[in-house]
Amino acid sequence: MNKITDKNSYLDSIKNRNLKIYLMGELIKEPLDHPIIRPSVEAMAETYELAVSEPELASAKSPYTGESINRFLHIAESNEDLFLQNKMQRKLGQLTGTCFQRCVGMDAFNALHSVTFEIDEKHNTEYHKNFINFLTEMHKYNLVIGGAMTDVKGDRSKLPHEQEDEDVYLRIVKRTQDGVYVKGAKAHQTGCINSHWMVVMPTLRLSDKDKDYAIVGAIPVDAEGITYIYGRQSCDTRSMEPGEYDVGNKYFAGQEAMVIFDNVFIPNNYIFMNGEYEFASMLVERFTTYHRRSYVCKSGVGDVLIGAAATIAEYNGVEEASHIKDKLVEMNKLNETIYATGIASSLQGSSTKSGNFINDDLLANVCKQHVTKETYEIGRIAQDLAGGLVGSMPSGIDFNEGTMSEDLKKYLKGKKDINSEDRVKILRLIENMTLGRNAVAYLTESLHGAGSPQAQRVQIRRKVNIEEKKDFAKKLSGIIERE
Ligand code: SF4
Ligand code: FE
Repeated sequence: MNKITDKNSYLDSIKNRNLKIYLMGELIKEPLDHPIIRPSVEAMAETYELAVSEPELASAKSPYTGESINRFLHIAESNEDLFLQNKMQRKLGQLTGTCFQRCVGMDAFNALHSVTFEIDEKHNTEYHKNFINFLTEMHKYNLVIGGAMTDVKGDRSKLPHEQEDEDVYLRIVKRTQDGVYVKGAKAHQTGCINSHWMVVMPTLRLSDKDKDYAIVGAIPVDAEGITYIYGRQSCDTRSMEPGEYDVGNKYFAGQEAMVIFDNVFIPNNYIFMNGEYEFASMLVERFTTYHRRSYVCKSGVGDVLIGAAATIAEYNGVEEASHIKDKLVEMNKLNETIYATGIASSLQGSSTKSGNFINDDLLANVCKQHVTKETYEIGRIAQDLAGGLVGSMPSGIDFNEGTMSEDLKKYLKGKKDINSEDRVKILRLIENMTLGRNAVAYLTESLHGAGSPQAQRVQIRRKVNIEEKKDFAKKLSGIIERE
């Protein structure tokens, strides 16, 4: 394999692989040729494209190979690096209007850098060395790594070893001298089919009875025993219909799949945790700290939706109305709140024991908590400005070539000089992002990705020092003496 240097070499690198993928009951031979899957491949490919068009933003120098690599593969060596990740994420959100899928891996191995180091420190193991060797290999070829954390979880009130079906959390089913075999399933895995490797990780705090579940390891996505079952998205089959208007976003979509592991082998040198159950919560916490501020991606996607809302207001001839201007201000305020808390988290990062940088955990959780709410409010305002047509528009075929085409062009016209075709296109984009395929990326993923809303509230409660705040109040009210 040659090093991937651009979009085309990335596309070549994922062609003709032997992945077992099911979509609507069908075994997919070549995902790149499938109209539902292809837009998600294109979104991932944009991460390579941006590294070529804006190398200072989307590439970095590998400390291991000394060569240029994609920023998504880079270990953060400063707060500035963390901030640049956010800037890149916002930009890619603006370019694709969807989830470009590559942040999970970046956040996973930034977390693993420090966690493997700290496991070794306690247990005299060699996970950090294994991990750095793996990362060096990824850097050499400039590959895409997916992070596979979320187990299917079964009964949520029970720990992995208490489950009736032992496989609802990924676990080791066999150990040999050369490595381990794992079994289980990971749910809603972002971009897994568009990746080269994935790193499996536990998804929650484990007990000493859960040692078989404390496994972290790297696996090629086409390894023996892995099956992907492609996740459906609202309106996804529009990509298979003739005509191009109804898809809304002409080029891009996100990707999630269920991944089933049936006795998949991980050789020793690709293992980064094996039984050290007490480090599972540290790994989950560090990963979510990185990942929850990566959700500034949604401010980039929000920029697209705000642009679409402003465009339809213009096409409808209402852009000068004061309440429309005010609604656009509100959308921007909400959107910038997401970005501001995310970059504040990055800029208040600190060094870990292994020497890489991690962003501020409290602010990362505040950022993600905003993402779970503000995106929905932005979506609501976008639909408000779009008008009811966003949910009732005739098909592109009727509009373009059907018997009633001329009538539709006449009656779907807005402002003079704006052709009705453009009005239909922008309404379809708003539909795509708030009700259709990319509403999965903009809304549902905003709600549940990197942990559902309550998970952030738990972390915010833990990280805030309430006693200190009470102290401030008690001093100024005279309850206690000021020093
Ligand atoms: Fe990246 Fe955002 Fe997609 Fe997560 S949801 S992988 S942070 S683009
Ligand atoms: Fe996500």
